Amino acid sequence: MTVKHNLTVGERMRRTEEFEVIIVGAGPAGLCAALYAGRGLLKAVVLERGVPGGEMLNTEWIDDYPGFEHVLGRDLAARMTEHARKFAADIRQENVESIARRDDGIFEIATTGGTSYEAPAVILTAGGTPTKLDVPGETEYAGRGVSYCAVCDGAFFKGEIIAVVGGGDAAVEEADYLTRYAEKVYVIHRRDQFRASRLLQERLFANPKIEVIWNKQVREMKGTPAGLETLELEDTVTGQASTLPVTGCFVFIGFRPNTGLVRQHFEHDASGYIITDDRMMTSIPGLFAAGDLRVQLTRQITTAVGDATTAAIAVEKYLADRRSALDAKAQVGV
Ligand SMILES: Cc1cc2nc3c(=O)[nH]c(=O)nc-3n(C[C@H](O)[C@H](O)[C@H](O)COP(=O)(O)OP(=O)(O)OC[C@H]3O[C@@H](n4cnc5c(N)ncnc54)[C@H](O)[C@@H]3O)c2cc1C
Repeated sequence: MTVKHNLTVGERMRRTEEFEVIIVGAGPAGLCAALYAGRGLLKAVVLERGVPGGEMLNTEWIDDYPGFEHVLGRDLAARMTEHARKFAADIRQENVESIARRDDGIFEIATTGGTSYEAPAVILTAGGTPTKLDVPGETEYAGRGVSYCAVCDGAFFKGEIIAVVGGGDAAVEEADYLTRYAEKVYVIHRRDQFRASRLLQERLFANPKIEVIWNKQVREMKGTPAGLETLELEDTVTGQASTLPVTGCFVFIGFRPNTGLVRQHFEHDASGYIITDDRMMTSIPGLFAAGDLRVQLTRQITTAVGDATTAAIAVEKYLADRRSALDAKAQVGV
C-alpha cells in the first residue's frame, strides 16, 4: 500500500526520514510514549499538529492527576513536554495526513508539510474530538461553566444547578453521575425520548435531583466574565424561546476518535474507537494505539499515560522480535 502525495520521486527521496518508532499526537499519551521511547533509547519522533499538550490545553484546572492536587492544564502540559524532552524527545510540528503500512511492515506517514516519515512501529495517540453544540457563547464559556467531561469537571459544581445536553448513553449516565456534586441537574434533549439504554434511563428517572427538559435545544449560552449564567433554549416543536438559569452545562452529544488517518482497515467498535490487545497493539501489526481513541471504560489523563507506557514498552519488544525474525530470514537466505 502506498501513500498518495503530490511530491516527485526525487523530492520524496530527499524528504523521507526514518525512525524506529513514530508517535502521532503530543497529548498526555504521546508525551508519555515519547518519554518511555527515550528511556528505551529508541530512535523516535513525535508529530504534533499544534502545541504539545492535547486536551490538557483546553482544561482549566486538573484535580485528579496523582501528585498534582490542583494544577492548571497548561502547566501540566508544559511539565510533561519538558519531561519528555529531558529524555531527548524529538517533537515536531507536523500535521499527519495518512498512515499506511507497506508489505515489508514499514509504515509510511505523510504530512501536510511534505515530509514523509517511515518506521516499523507507530504509536497513534491522536485523541478525539468532543462534538460541540456550535452555538454562541459555547467557546467563550468553555472552562468557565461549559464542559465536555463529567469525571474531570463535576467536582467544580458542588451544590450548583447545572444542565446536561444530549440523549444518548453518555448524557444519561453522566447526568446521573453529576448529581453526586450538583444540587440539581437538568437534562436537555431535543427529542421526546432518549436513545440511551433502558437501564441507564431507569436510573436517571429514579434520581430525584434530575429533571428532564424534552424537545428543547440550546440556542445560546450567556453569562458574565466570571462564568456561565443562563442557557437560551428553543422548543423544537413550537419554536418558543425560554431561559434556563444554570452555572454549568455539560455537553454530551458525541465524541469522534481521530482515527481517519489510518489507511488500512483496523478493528474498532461501533463508535469507531480502536480495539487493541493488552500490549496496545491494534489489529495492524506494528500499529499501537494509546489514549482517548482506544476502546476503554473511561478517558482520562491517567488512563492515557498508562496506555502509552504499555505501548512504548511493547514497541521495544516488537522491534526486537522483528529484528530477530529478519536476522533469521537473512540467515536462511545465506
Ligand atoms: C474539557 C475537558 C476537560 C478535561 N479535564 C480532565 C481532567 O480534569 N482530568 C483528566 O484526567 N482528564 C481530563 N480530560 C480528559 C483528558 O484531557 C483526555 O483523556 C486526555 O487528554 C487524552 O489524552 P490523549 O493523549 O489520548 O489525547 P489528546 O489529549 O486529545 O491529544 C491528542 C493530540 O493529538 C494531536 N493530533 C490529532 N490529530 C493529529 C494529526 N492529524 N496530526 C498531528 N497531531 C494530531 C492533537 O493536536 C492533540 O495534541 C478532559 C477533557 C476535556 C475535553
